[in-house]
Amino acid sequence: MSLVGLTLGCGQKKPEAVIRYDVSEEFQPYIDEYERVAASEGRDVTITNLIVGFGPTPSLMHTAICEVTEGQPPKIVVNRSVWTRLTSTGHKVVMFHELGHCHLRRVHRNEFVSGTAVPVSLMYQFRVGDSTYHSHEEDFNNELFSRYSEF
Ligand SMILES: [Zn+2]
Repeated sequence: MSLVGLTLGCGQKKPEAVIRYDVSEEFQPYIDEYERVAASEGRDVTITNLIVGFGPTPSLMHTAICEVTEGQPPKIVVNRSVWTRLTSTGHKVVMFHELGHCHLRRVHRNEFVSGTAVPVSLMYQFRVGDSTYHSHEEDFNNELFSRYSEF
């Protein structure tokens, strides 16, 4: 306790950033898949600083949220009652979207493929449907890793 006080009391620099990896086992397969897709898109990604777990979201419209706080591990909070109603494709879409925020630091992208109702990006503000994802999987995965550090 006194050590912590001393460290913080020096005031010369910010407290050390906390690095922590704490992902519930039901989410881990989607992290693995994200890393595999990243590799196929030419990006060597190993996620070492992330918290993923069930918890409250602002509404049932929000399957999950990403919280980014300076000095803290990025945190994905998933609404259990929405999650349990989704297919494994839905789970992947949700986790890739949230990792887009929490890992790639991407913001929403709400454009559509010209002349269609198909979003150009998994960073679309609403969850991309399973059949839409399957029909355009390559494009979505390619687009996801094409941008980063947007905030
Ligand atoms: Zn989002």
